Amino acid sequence: KHNPQGDTHFLEDESTKMFARKVADHYSSRTNQTLEEREASPIIHLKKLNNWIKSVLIQLYTKRGDAVLDLACGKGGDLIKWDKANVGYYVGIDIADGSIEDCRTRYNGDADHHQRRKKFSFPARLMCGDCYEVRLDRVLADDAPFDVCSCQFAMHYSWSTEARARRALANVSALLRPGGTFIGTMPDANVIIKKLREAEGLAFGNSVYWIRFDEEFSEKKFKSSNPFGIKYKFHLEDAVDCPEWIVPFHVFKALAEEYGFELVFVKNNHTFVDEYMKKPEFVELMRRLGALGDGNQDRSTLSPDEWDAAYLYLTFVLRKRGQPDQT
Ligand code: SAM
Repeated sequence: KHNPQGDTHFLEDESTKMFARKVADHYSSRTNQTLEEREASPIIHLKKLNNWIKSVLIQLYTKRGDAVLDLACGKGGDLIKWDKANVGYYVGIDIADGSIEDCRTRYNGDADHHQRRKKFSFPARLMCGDCYEVRLDRVLADDAPFDVCSCQFAMHYSWSTEARARRALANVSALLRPGGTFIGTMPDANVIIKKLREAEGLAFGNSVYWIRFDEEFSEKKFKSSNPFGIKYKFHLEDAVDCPEWIVPFHVFKALAEEYGFELVFVKNNHTFVDEYMKKPEFVELMRRLGALGDGNQDRSTLSPDEWDAAYLYLTFVLRKRGQPDQT
């Protein structure tokens, strides 16, 4: 029998799946770069800056021996960072099967495209799956609880529907121990909407990125309508070209609180860099990575357009309520 509501639900479900597939296919199709190709990238310094931000976060919030869950781990670009933090166990999950294959190759140490290195010192489990759809508490029942969960440059892919956003947070909440930490980076909706207001039409950008909102987007609808499924197309030279969704941070924070988290901090990445570049140990790390010149106000190696693209992101830290076991 015809059921209009059911049909609508079915269509929504199908288009959500189609967009998740588009995102997965985009990342799967990105092949590993050689060291030379990487160094020639127009956003090489932005990549290095992002690696610095992730390294700082990992160093600040991980202890020796921690069990780590890396949601949307990609090609495993953070494996070395986790190794430096001496983690005890690592689970990485990503929707893109090509990326998980690259991650596995990197973990196994054969044919590492950057450098031949010793094996990682921690055991790892790498899986392909949709972190915002699957009940990970069931899949990872034997691996939990985790001390730290990380979701780098990927949380916004959960914001296509409320159900997916909730699944994402429910998964992290169910798998972290009480007192555990959830660290991540994602686009800063305030910056994106501010730039959209200043733009002439529905698109804006510079030489390294552009963002284009769908025709049906309107500021009025944005303010009144539901805060999920606000889609735009994001293009970042030599990195990203796929649909993404606005994550209003106050909604993310409120939803996270429902799932037992408290906010430790949220900072736009410009602020993050300015604050942590005041600490000598992180200035030294920046020098080694080579994203900025000699630190402090010297951004000689990062182009103004790359620095402007860094402004599009924020870093957050959430803490799962409760006391860790005293045993
Ligand atoms: N976290 C990695 C890093 O920082 O290098 C990768 C970041 S990349 C910008 C975004 C990643 O999110 C991609 O690897 C993509 O496949 C993954 N992703 C997107 N939607 C996902 C989903 N529903 N479940 C799991 N991974 C997802």
